[in-house]
Amino acid sequence: MSDREAVKVIVRCRPLSDKEIRDGRQPVVLVEAGQVSIRSATEGAKSFTFDQAFGAESRQEDVYDAAAAPLVEAMLEGFNSTVFAYGQTGCGKTHTMEGREQPAEERGIIPRAFDHIFREIEKGAGGRQFLVRVSHLEIYNEEVRDLLSRDAKSRVELRESPGQGVHVRGLKEFVVKSAAEMAAVLEVGKKNRTVGATLMNQDSSRSHSIFTIVVETGSKEGDPAAAAAGSDGTTSSSSSTPKARGIRVGKLNLVDLAGSERQAKTGATGARLKEATKINLSLSALGNVIGALTDDTAGHVPYRDSKLTRLLQDSLGGNSKTVMIANVGPADYNFDETLSTLRYASRAK
Ligand code: ADP
Ligand code: MG
Repeated sequence: MSDREAVKVIVRCRPLSDKEIRDGRQPVVLVEAGQVSIRSATEGAKSFTFDQAFGAESRQEDVYDAAAAPLVEAMLEGFNSTVFAYGQTGCGKTHTMEGREQPAEERGIIPRAFDHIFREIEKGAGGRQFLVRVSHLEIYNEEVRDLLSRDAKSRVELRESPGQGVHVRGLKEFVVKSAAEMAAVLEVGKKNRTVGATLMNQDSSRSHSIFTIVVETGSKEGDPAAAAAGSDGTTSSSSSTPKARGIRVGKLNLVDLAGSERQAKTGATGARLKEATKINLSLSALGNVIGALTDDTAGHVPYRDSKLTRLLQDSLGGNSKTVMIANVGPADYNFDETLSTLRYASRAK
């Protein structure tokens, strides 16, 4: 598999909101068979082509099948993958990743992945054993916070070691035995994210949220639970996979990125401006890494330029699969941000 095939870029355009309709906003984004065009009164239309594009009518199930289902299957085979939701605040990142619990059709990628994983595990339960672990962290202002720690302000550090690769020292990981247990852990993380943000007077749309699922599978002889018992609660890269014991380790990172909007528009100053600069830096570092992975002529992949890309290094490139979902809004007043998201996404292709 070449890296080019390992990266998939999908655009999703949400419908006009009720407020946008009341305000008489006009839709300027057109989605057609992998093509997205955006039209302005003064500059005419610009078109971009992606691996896939979803319009206002798109269903959560279709987005899941295109973006995440193949990665869940790859994870169970022992591969690492990452799904990113990118875009301006209010354009549907959280809707795409989490969605709503009710009605069931509105469930997003994360709860659908939980169900999918345990459905597959039940199917394969006869011959193999599975151990599923989850962790949840956020990156705010280039600082990493453990969302499953009891201390809502808990800061953790990225470390690098020959055995473990890049990992988060002391990150809490929980073993889960069902989709419901996984969902309960996600709820704890989400709550801590809000509480932590409030305590520190931060805006959670300005942080990257990373929910990570690790599945170890082995034949009955190679017991994954025994392998995990030796773990000190830190995440390890796939390079330390104990292949000798017939154990495969796959990982799936589900990432709801910070809003990509420019700070100029929001008129930020002081701490907010500093924060916005860091977000722009980390999003452009991510764009550079994905751009380098899809460009056969680029030798060097600049993983080290941000915490986000360092942390996800073992799940970006190599044998990993990466899916970038760029979320946009359809309305005229978002023209500049939407164009900038489409440009970012097409550069990642
Ligand atoms: P973000 O996380 O990018 O800030 P949200 O996911 O919170 O954006 O979406 C903003 C609003 O738009 C929410 O009320 C959400 O339910 C709605 N929304 C987003 N995408 C869609 C969609 N594809 N279909 C229907 N409603 C959507
Ligand atoms: Mg959101």
